[in-house]
Amino acid sequence: MAWKAQNEISATDAKRIDGSILQVDNHKKNMIYQLGEAFYKANKDNADAVADYKVTIDNINKLEYNRKVWINRKMKLQGMRICEGCGNVLPYESAFCNRCGVKLEAVAEDLLELEGEQPNSENA
Ligand SMILES: [Zn+2]
Repeated sequence: MAWKAQNEISATDAKRIDGSILQVDNHKKNMIYQLGEAFYKANKDNADAVADYKVTIDNINKLEYNRKVWINRKMKLQGMRICEGCGNVLPYESAFCNRCGVKLEAVAEDLLELEGEQPNSENA
């Protein structure tokens, strides 16, 4: 991204958050793989099994959200935020986007808990 952070954050903090983003990415990738494998096994003989995958699909959507939360947390430490309307990067305290004009809502900072999984370091 071609934006300049307002605040410098420590390499340790940046590395920790990048590690969490990578962990979410890998977790999601693994779940998509499991979903594909399970879907294949179930559907090779049964075309009506889609409902069985709702929990996994919901969890993958939650991981997408959690990835955004980690990025928000890192950007907040740097004094920045992203406009949900256009993707513009703005100072964290901005009330409106200076590109698309949308009123900025509170940044999502709370991780969602995945169904059927114990909380782990991602939720810390
Ligand atoms: Zn915008």
